[in-house]
Amino acid sequence: MAGTFIDVELSPEARDDPELAQKLEDACPVDIYANRDGSVDVVEENLDECILCGLCVEAAPPGKVRVLKLYDGTALER
Ligand code: SF4
Repeated sequence: MAGTFIDVELSPEARDDPELAQKLEDACPVDIYANRDGSVDVVEENLDECILCGLCVEAAPPGKVRVLKLYDGTALER
């Protein structure tokens, strides 16, 4: 389930990367990512708290994490 305004998309290999799971948990200021036993858990109830800082996108290798702005159809990505 997505948030009302925001969703995040991770590639399958990014989801199961323990190092990335911790990086994302550390990077996001509003706790949208949690490291659950080495996998990335997206905390759905926090999605709409996203401040579009881009830190998660920067923490991940290019193309692995996208932050979708559901309200205008664009995304933060690299
Ligand atoms: S853009 Fe910032 S606030 Fe939004 S999910 Fe990424 S790290 Fe969290």
